[in-house]
Amino acid sequence: MSEQSHPEIREAVRKLCAGFPGEYWRALDRERTYPAAFVKTLTEAGFLSVLIPEEYGGSGLGLSAATAVLEEIHRSGCNGGACHAQMYTMGTVLKHGSQAQKEAWLPKIASGEIRLQAFGVTEPTAGTDTTRISTFARREGDKYVVNGQKIWISRAEHSDLMVLLVRTTAREDAARPADGMSVLLVDMRTAVGNGLTIRPIRTMLNHATTELFFDNLEVPVENLVGEEGKGFRYILDGMNAERILIASECIGDGRFFIDRSSAYAKERSVFGRAIGENQGVQFPIARNYVQLSAAALAVDHAAALYDAGKPCGTEANMAKMLASEASWAAADTCIQTHGGFGFAEEYDIERKFRETRLYQVAPISTNLILSHVGTHVLGMPKSF
Ligand SMILES: Cc1cc2nc3c(=O)[nH]c(=O)nc-3n(C[C@H](O)[C@H](O)[C@H](O)COP(=O)(O)OP(=O)(O)OC[C@H]3O[C@@H](n4cnc5c(N)ncnc54)[C@H](O)[C@@H]3O)c2cc1C
Repeated sequence: MSEQSHPEIREAVRKLCAGFPGEYWRALDRERTYPAAFVKTLTEAGFLSVLIPEEYGGSGLGLSAATAVLEEIHRSGCNGGACHAQMYTMGTVLKHGSQAQKEAWLPKIASGEIRLQAFGVTEPTAGTDTTRISTFARREGDKYVVNGQKIWISRAEHSDLMVLLVRTTAREDAARPADGMSVLLVDMRTAVGNGLTIRPIRTMLNHATTELFFDNLEVPVENLVGEEGKGFRYILDGMNAERILIASECIGDGRFFIDRSSAYAKERSVFGRAIGENQGVQFPIARNYVQLSAAALAVDHAAALYDAGKPCGTEANMAKMLASEASWAAADTCIQTHGGFGFAEEYDIERKFRETRLYQVAPISTNLILSHVGTHVLGMPKSF
């Protein structure tokens, strides 16, 4: 994002984040605890409902405004990973849900009464090949009965609702592999202990991610989003928003690292001069800035296409790849610039280093983006 866009939003987010300094995140990171107070404050300030239309209690702004929010959160040293999904999963209900579902859920999501933080797609055996998911919802009268397993489902323990992708027709019985999948809204408040078991996974970063086990979980048919069998398309639609938003978090991370690197390079004196006088220290930081600025333009472009209702799948993918690589390069430079201090917990750099690494794998890994560009954009043969 251009650093100048949405100045009032940026200023307000920066002020809010100042109340959640490094000590707050370090303590949570040590214990792998969810940043409940941060998420509550963000929700109450209305920042998680920027994409919800005003008629449902949100501020009805575009994706570009949402990217400004997440970028500033990350630039401030905070982390939006605990709640960013509320922004984009809501879009599945908004775009494809019935009027009754929108009226029932969106105002409560906007007010914070209900948290829609969980997005259940990935499965242990399917991996990135989503058409191979096997979690199955069998229709029985006015309910679906769900059986199967998901993995890496973040924030499931901190969410009242989950957008869940299931098969309602087996892959082999569907006309095309992408057919026969459906989206269900699962009410976590009643599901847990009644067919849904959540098992947390401890990871290298504090991300509240989990494994989910479905054993005859009953979901009312009225919680089906859109048409049965068309769920994959709905999910893909939401993934463009997700990739652009995650890319803006990477831009924020990159700016955090560059801010820290350039400040330290100016102030740290070794051999009688600032280390930043040495071009071996200065140039990598300048290169990070150049790369990050280009990636930020790509994020802006993808968000503008999205907000104009134009196709943006390729642009969202490219923005996410460029931004995640630029933030990772800046993270690496930041550690190097700080020497030993880069490894000290109290500098927050090693924490942010671990956090920003995720984005070259999730929500989509770099190879799959390159494959999309190679085959869909450049027309080369697909290898799988
Ligand atoms: C902390 C964390 C949080 C997450 N949160 C969520 C969540 O909330 N909801 C959710 O649904 N998922 C979530 N995920 C899952 C995430 O989206 C996946 O991990 C990611 O999409 C990669 O899928 P995979 O792990 O199955 O890797 P795989 O598909 O098994 O791939 C492994 C590696 O092989 C490469 N690869 C695979 N196939 C090819 C190919 N044909 N050509 C070239 N390379 C290939 C991939 O690029 C990757 O590097 C999360 C993951 C993590 C780690």
